[in-house]
Amino acid sequence: DPATPKYKRVLLKLSGEALMGDSPFGIDPSVIHRLAEDILSLRSMGVEIGIVVGGGNIFRGEGLAKAGMDRVTGDQMGMLATVMNGLAMQDVIEQRGLEVRVMSAVSIPSVCESFIRRRAIRHLEKGRIVILVGGTGNPFFTTDSGASLRAIEIQADIMIKATKVDGVYDSDPVKNPNALRFEHLTYNHALDQRLAVMDATAIVLCRDQNMPMMVIDIHAPNNLVRAIQGEPVGTLVTS
Ligand code: UDP
Repeated sequence: DPATPKYKRVLLKLSGEALMGDSPFGIDPSVIHRLAEDILSLRSMGVEIGIVVGGGNIFRGEGLAKAGMDRVTGDQMGMLATVMNGLAMQDVIEQRGLEVRVMSAVSIPSVCESFIRRRAIRHLEKGRIVILVGGTGNPFFTTDSGASLRAIEIQADIMIKATKVDGVYDSDPVKNPNALRFEHLTYNHALDQRLAVMDATAIVLCRDQNMPMMVIDIHAPNNLVRAIQGEPVGTLVTS
């Protein structure tokens, strides 16, 4: 049955860039509404969904540090940026009648729940969409690493990184028209070639805990649903 999901519980990583669409900064409402439709489709297939959102569309610690700010303060601002993105996603998903909880690695109790692993798993079991914000809660990490960590913690069947490209290439497909796309990669190949899948920390975490990763283009219609049905729409990274 094509409607049967191959993966029962997924951790979806949405970068800040993915929420930005073609805007230079912030959140493009049409993009997040479209993403919410995809989430709704997945949910109607019975998939349990955790979402880790990035913050690069607002602040990145590294960029702020280059401009002269203390790195840790910059990273804290970056983590707070992910909270804002998470609240925006909560809003558009809730508008479609789904139950959503935002859980933060950085405690902001008047705004959202704090991340408690057992509680997050309970939300998923009840069919709620769980939006995990604040990354890992520590400076010098990225939300990709946060996504790997949470995927492993919530025992997801796969972590899906939603990007603007339809997978991992052997060179930059924007610059090189002959770039080749991988349908399948090993963790070590991705690490050795420094392929632009995710940062090394995120890949190593998934490798060591055997968490499959998939890189897909989030803007292509229906891609997320097809990926969950096991179609080779992007690049799958496994051992
Ligand atoms: N960040 C952090 N620790 C984490 C996750 C994120 O300090 O565990 C900060 C870091 O400054 C980062 C910013 O939050 O640049 C936004 O996250 P990220 O760059 O991963 O967002 P994305 O690229 O996915 O939009």
